[in-house]
Amino acid sequence: MVSDSTCIGQTDTPDETKRLAETLAACLHPGDVVLLTGDLGAGKTQFVQGVARGLGLDDQVTSPTFNILQSYENDVTELHHFDLYRLEDDEELDDIGYFEVLEDGGVSFVEWAEKFPEAIPDDYLQLTFIVEPDGTRTVEAAAEGDRSEMLLRAWREEL
Ligand code: ADP
Ligand code: MG
Repeated sequence: MVSDSTCIGQTDTPDETKRLAETLAACLHPGDVVLLTGDLGAGKTQFVQGVARGLGLDDQVTSPTFNILQSYENDVTELHHFDLYRLEDDEELDDIGYFEVLEDGGVSFVEWAEKFPEAIPDDYLQLTFIVEPDGTRTVEAAAEGDRSEMLLRAWREEL
């Protein structure tokens, strides 16, 4: 069972969202999978940009909506950023090598995984981005599986 969602933070600006993401980046281990949920424009891609910054990946992370997958690497780490918004059916997950990429030893962030039950791995951290009426973003987190529970605990200590 996925753990109850708990509030991780509230951010007033895109840069605050990125700084929150940098605190998660510090806790990541190879193979970790993070699913990002929330409306279009909620801040999921901004968050992944912050993770990239935290991992020391200089490449500019843009929205992978048109590519489905963008990967970034340096000598120490690799970041995979999926956006499944434009994927039409779950057979395409195989075509894009989704399952292999998740297991290739990098860290993976996936937007719109909830569109496809098959795209949900056994163990993942789930982040939910909520746009509040005043425009601030609330970020909630829940963990499914032992490794993501450890990741969430480590992140909370980092905050
Ligand atoms: P998503 O990937 O969820 O569709 P993006 O991260 O691409 O969304 O875009 C979020 C948009 O919201 C950006 O234009 C960003 O400037 C804006 N924004 C405003 N406030 C925030 C905030 N607190 N956190 C993240 N983005 C914000
Ligand atoms: Mg996005």
